[in-house]
Amino acid sequence: MGMDDKKPKTVTLDPDDWEEFRAVGHQMIDDMIAFLQNLHARPVWQPIHPDVEKGFKKSLPMKPKNIQDVYKEFLYQVLPYPTGNIHPRFWGWINGAGCPVSMYADLLASGMNACTVGLPDSSSLVELQVIDWMKEMLDYPMNSSGILVSGGSAANLVGLTVARNAVSEAAEKGVGGIPKKLVLYGSTETHFTVQRAVEVLGLGRDSIRKIPVNDKLQMDVQKLREEIEKDRKAGHLPFCVIATAGATQTGSVDDLDALADVAEAYGLWYHVDGAIGSVGYLSPRLHSVLKGMNRADSLAFDLHKWMQIPYEAGCVLIRSKETHLKTFNSASSFLKSEALKRLALFTETSIQVSRNFKALKIWMSLKTHGIDKFRMIIEQCLDQTAHLVNLINDHPDLELMAPVTLHIVCFRFVAPGLSGEQLDALNQQILDRLRNEGIAIVSNMNVKGRLTMRACVNNHRSKFEDFDLLVREAARIGHDLLAAETEKKAA
Ligand SMILES: *Cc1c(COP(=O)(O)O)cnc(C)c1O
Repeated sequence: MGMDDKKPKTVTLDPDDWEEFRAVGHQMIDDMIAFLQNLHARPVWQPIHPDVEKGFKKSLPMKPKNIQDVYKEFLYQVLPYPTGNIHPRFWGWINGAGCPVSMYADLLASGMNACTVGLPDSSSLVELQVIDWMKEMLDYPMNSSGILVSGGSAANLVGLTVARNAVSEAAEKGVGGIPKKLVLYGSTETHFTVQRAVEVLGLGRDSIRKIPVNDKLQMDVQKLREEIEKDRKAGHLPFCVIATAGATQTGSVDDLDALADVAEAYGLWYHVDGAIGSVGYLSPRLHSVLKGMNRADSLAFDLHKWMQIPYEAGCVLIRSKETHLKTFNSASSFLKSEALKRLALFTETSIQVSRNFKALKIWMSLKTHGIDKFRMIIEQCLDQTAHLVNLINDHPDLELMAPVTLHIVCFRFVAPGLSGEQLDALNQQILDRLRNEGIAIVSNMNVKGRLTMRACVNNHRSKFEDFDLLVREAARIGHDLLAAETEKKAA
């Protein structure tokens, strides 16, 4: 008997049977590919079966289960009930549809289980490469700083934290130690995550001035100047202008160049929330709409929306590397130690320390497709948007409810003799039925006090015919509902 026999048996999370593990992995890939190949034939959404929902109320699993069986549960409980955003007729919210290449990348990244903190490893090189590509793609200065984050919410928070710390000693003394009230300027279209970032930063919701918008739903530049003057006179410290490059409601884009001029004239930080619209810059057709975006001191944008990278993928670029680094420099001496010879300071440029290798799914997708393919997707979305607008304008029962700047179309079904409230209810019913019948998903949106249907046309899987179907079915359901109402009255 050797000494080894006395050692306790080790446990590990690696499979007991690698061959079985390999087989189930191949099966998963085959099944997922089949699922993606047949999306058009599937309903965009279906209600979750009550038995399935019950299956999520089990207590903590104590005993092991065969991976085949767990995978079967996934096929039964999880896969059939998505939000719908990978489906070709999903236009509900600004969700990306994802891309199969990145699905593989996620598998590889998790296999490597890389923790991308900036140590000399390949994952840091990949992220640095991706950030440089983002700068190149958006004509942003190559000597700027940047980091990948979970999405627009985090990107806005990082950008505004840098902005706050650039003008105050909030990092050292807390916001209570700031002698003047810090004031930011957004518009009535500014996204709620910007407001949340301001709350998290301790500046208070009332420190954002919501400047009114013009008829193109852009921030009124003259009003912005007046508010800044007013705040200065009142002894406050205006410090940041927040522009929106693609408002969530309607896709409107502020006059980015004019706002950059104002920020420059008053010496304010210029933050652009481009979660939706920034990547539209890939198309020369949107260069005039997005002119001035690259003058931002901080630019927040998403890659999991119009760029179709699977969740989560966002990015923030900061013009001044030095200012960016100063903001989050409380990293421990352990991480700062020179001996570690780091490639990048990812732990000092956002609020996270441990970070996943989300850069890989971007890197692989961009390399595989080439950036020109993404430009074509964006232009296809713009063409489909124009197609939908034409269909609505040509339809006697549909009307357009907001100006179209990017790829968001707000429209509704109308019928003579119905009050505003009745039309609101009718349109809500139409979009509910479109979804419940598995036809298409559009969302509702309040525009000018009225409920409208809203289609976000940023899905690379949609075909032009899908929009014909949307319009046809929305009108059919509208007429069905009207007829049912008439019958009810007659009875
Ligand atoms: C989606 C969105 C955000 C938030 O981004 P997430 O990726 O969802 O965190 C911020 N601003 C605008 C304009 C958005 O549309």
